[in-house]
Amino acid sequence: MNWIKKTLRFGEKIKKIIKIRASKEEIENSDWTSCCKGPILKVDLEENLWVCPSCNKHHRINCRQRFDIVFGKNNYEVLKTPIPQDDPLNFSDTKSYKDRLKLARKKTGMDCGMMVAKTNIKNINITTIASDFNFIGGSIGAAEGEAFLYGIQHSIENQQPFIVFTSGGGMRMMESLVSLSQMTRTTLAINELKKNNLPYVVVLTDPTAGGITASYAMLGDIHLAEPGALVAFAGARVIQGTVREQLPEGFQRSEYVEKTGFVDLIVERKDLREKIGTLLSILLKKNSVINSTENETSEDSRSLTKAAS
Ligand SMILES: [Zn+2]
Repeated sequence: MNWIKKTLRFGEKIKKIIKIRASKEEIENSDWTSCCKGPILKVDLEENLWVCPSCNKHHRINCRQRFDIVFGKNNYEVLKTPIPQDDPLNFSDTKSYKDRLKLARKKTGMDCGMMVAKTNIKNINITTIASDFNFIGGSIGAAEGEAFLYGIQHSIENQQPFIVFTSGGGMRMMESLVSLSQMTRTTLAINELKKNNLPYVVVLTDPTAGGITASYAMLGDIHLAEPGALVAFAGARVIQGTVREQLPEGFQRSEYVEKTGFVDLIVERKDLREKIGTLLSILLKKNSVINSTENETSEDSRSLTKAAS
């Protein structure tokens, strides 16, 4: 009966190993994260703009990290946006929506999942928005809709281009129709921006899905995307289950979406500032900037001009 004892002892060991596995919070608060080659220090990853030096995976970043990288630390001012009444439907699932909001606010230090800022790029003043995936999956509710509209209003009042960094799983189910109506509101707001002939540039980051893809993320004058970002409407498993076909490799990743025409250009995080600046110069017809860029990197500029046309 020795083998029974051995098996039981082995089982105990396994249980211990499972018990000492770090929790989600512990992983988030630790100095380490993981990528293709196993554990990697967050400090090292941060130095490389949160991009893995081995596999070039563009890790998810929050709004301030995004603005710091693209516009430079202390080179932007965050604008306070209106926050409508929380939890309009008094919604509860396994947890109350009020508690989820409280937790998300504590975790991210933000009032809602979107951050609006005014800044400049290549001496062009712009209004910009980023979403934080850590705020209830970057989903869009009434507060995020308000933030988006506030950003557009700021753009129009100051006659500035509008740059959006998308990220999020879609509309926020805890706000039901209130959330879905944000698709219409953001679309109508973008129309106003276009009536004012102001450039609207979208940068798709990982992940951009659902109602976000079905509204403001696909209405830009130009769509840039970070490498390997998930850009989708419905999930791949849902699609595979519906069409009953094997989906192609890299399905719904930005490289695939570029081939199908929904993305104009894939841009590495380190090049975003330069590319957005050049694009805005072209769209705003600031010829001196275009000429100087053309002299420096003519091929690069040609591809951007093609994307802009
Ligand atoms: Zn990696």
